[in-house]
Amino acid sequence: MDPLKALADAERRPYWLDSPFRPDPAPRLAGDTTADLVVVGGGFSGLWTALMAKERDPSIDVVLLEGRRIGWAATGRNGGFCMATLTHGLANGLERWPEELDRLERMGVANLDEIERTLWRYRIDCSFERTGELHVATEPWQLDGLSEHQELIDELGLDYVPLDRDQVRAQVDSPTYLGGLWERSGCAMVDPARLAWGLRDACLRLGVRVHERSPVRSLRDDGTTITLRTPYGTAAARQVALGTGVFPPLLRRLRHFVVPVYDYVLMTEPLTPAQLAAVGWSNRQGVGDSGNQFHYYRLTDDNRVLWGGYDAVYYNGGLVRQEYDQRDATFVKLAEHFYATFPQLANVRFSHRWGGVIDTCSRFSAFYGRAHGGRLVYAAGFTGMGVGATRFGANVMLDLLSGERTERTELRMVKEKPIPFPPEPVRSGVIQVTRWSIARADRSQGRRNLWLRALDRMGLGFDS
Ligand SMILES: Cc1cc2nc3c(=O)[nH]c(=O)nc-3n(C[C@H](O)[C@H](O)[C@H](O)COP(=O)(O)OP(=O)(O)OC[C@H]3O[C@@H](n4cnc5c(N)ncnc54)[C@H](O)[C@@H]3O)c2cc1C
Repeated sequence: MDPLKALADAERRPYWLDSPFRPDPAPRLAGDTTADLVVVGGGFSGLWTALMAKERDPSIDVVLLEGRRIGWAATGRNGGFCMATLTHGLANGLERWPEELDRLERMGVANLDEIERTLWRYRIDCSFERTGELHVATEPWQLDGLSEHQELIDELGLDYVPLDRDQVRAQVDSPTYLGGLWERSGCAMVDPARLAWGLRDACLRLGVRVHERSPVRSLRDDGTTITLRTPYGTAAARQVALGTGVFPPLLRRLRHFVVPVYDYVLMTEPLTPAQLAAVGWSNRQGVGDSGNQFHYYRLTDDNRVLWGGYDAVYYNGGLVRQEYDQRDATFVKLAEHFYATFPQLANVRFSHRWGGVIDTCSRFSAFYGRAHGGRLVYAAGFTGMGVGATRFGANVMLDLLSGERTERTELRMVKEKPIPFPPEPVRSGVIQVTRWSIARADRSQGRRNLWLRALDRMGLGFDS
């Protein structure tokens, strides 16, 4: 179908948030209050932090402040791939923390298992399906990338199954596939908005005081108490945790480490049984292709296809703006790629199109820290893989607040910070050259130019 025609009636809002399950907003913070812990941010980072703070010690008084609505940002607009990896994939982990990779992989699987158990414990229905992820190669050079780490996979005992062309097409049938790797248990599909709302309900049930539409404008530390000011009230606490993603940070130093990268997504109408049968997909895995600019796609519980990725856009100046949530050129490109991948679905139209902002850091996986004498902690920089890893990040924040040394706080990954981005306007220049080089590498059998090789050597990168 002509992509423009297929997109003509697509709503310009995130499919997941366009839902009858969306709860009414919690009340604004009005007046002055005190608490033991204030969590800022009502995305996955903040929700997990508030929930687990109460699970660790039910007697503490926890307030959660969200500037807009729970889950409205990256948390409610993502692909819903809830992954075990804490390192933005095996290759990135191997490159940066080889000596602790086995521990990181084990902790990542335990984190995903715990997410699953939490859903049972609080009866959170977010269509959780632990189907795994199918990594597919669509160019010959990508096949080498998929087989590159086989020895390490065997050594770590990971549940990955290599698939040749026919085997991968027996799973999900696209004429573009040349081979694949099925990571069987390290990834689950979720409805991310329903997960966020379920965590919100669980927080409320445990006694967390949740306030939405309560943006924190400033933070004042008098030596023992940190006071957070919102438009209609203040919250003062002994301890503060920031899960504020890529938004203008309350702690200035975070500005150097995260940049906003926009990522775009389409959702189709529900497939008919005949359309689904034409693709196969009976094991319902999430799928990711293996270019530097990659697509991710998956089925929803009513058999729509979510189709996202490829263009990772940094707008010069590095601002977060509502107008950037829509990008028609990217939607058309994504639609063309969808039909090229699945010609059997040529008659399928799109019901929704949207974008969201990713908190990208130069090492692609979250970093952590303390400030104000250890009374304030933060986690940021999940770089497009935070649906599962934010729970681990929340645990790190709570460990840091407790002052205890734990297996998590002793990780080099947790102790080290990423390399900062240069300030603007150099930042924009560096990122745009990197984006151009990445696109070029995909057109040249994966060959990385001098610029990318230099960045690789410095341990610096740009990704969504
Ligand atoms: C299009 C897209 C697709 C993605 N796909 C995947 C995927 O499939 N799998 C995956 O693992 N990850 C994916 N991600 C990334 C994932 O969504 C994020 O890593 C994760 O949601 C980060 O959660 P967070 O709570 O840290 O940040 P956010 O969800 O951004 O939440 C931060 C919250 O803090 C609030 N806030 C900020 N400042 C203040 C303040 N001063 N006062 C009060 N509140 C404040 C904001 O309003 C916001 O609600 C994707 C992201 C996008 C955008």
